[in-house]
Amino acid sequence: MNRTLTIIKPDAFASGKSGLILAHLEKAGFRVIAARVMHLSDAQAKEFYAVHRERPFYAPLVAFMTSGKCMPMVLERDDAVAELRRVIGATDPAQAEAGTVRKLYAESKERNAIHASDSDENAAREARFFFAESELIASLQAVPVASGLSPMA
Ligand code: ATP
Ligand code: MG
Repeated sequence: MNRTLTIIKPDAFASGKSGLILAHLEKAGFRVIAARVMHLSDAQAKEFYAVHRERPFYAPLVAFMTSGKCMPMVLERDDAVAELRRVIGATDPAQAEAGTVRKLYAESKERNAIHASDSDENAAREARFFFAESELIASLQAVPVASGLSPMA
């Protein structure tokens, strides 16, 4: 088992597709480890997509990603990074294979419904970008009682 980071982007969240997309991912064998609904700040979106800062689509991408709420999630399954990239399909929905999340739910190459990490290293970095270490623990049973997080304490 390993992990990847996904974001249901503001287009899909605003149009009420987050439940459909999560169901699609769960049917594809992913389990949710951590999730939240949030509105990215300008600084957060710029940092998250910093790798693209020289690209012409960077400013509109930051504007889009800060245009409304989104839903970052850490997902787990075997071969998580490669499998999620396969399940979401190509960046441009016009190029995405039938049955992929982007083919089903994306509006355009920019407003493309969902993000997925592109390497194990980036998945770990992106998970830490959105979540505290304590949120990334697989289950409360793995938490020592001494931490104070046990429901029995
Ligand atoms: P993501 O990183 O969001 O999972 P990706 O890895 O398929 O998507 P990237 O090349 O990393 O694609 O681009 C990041 C995001 O920037 C894309 O998902 C899309 O929202 C936007 N984007 C990429 N290329 C373009 C473009 N040519 N025009 C407009 N927006 C683009
Ligand atoms: Mg990418």
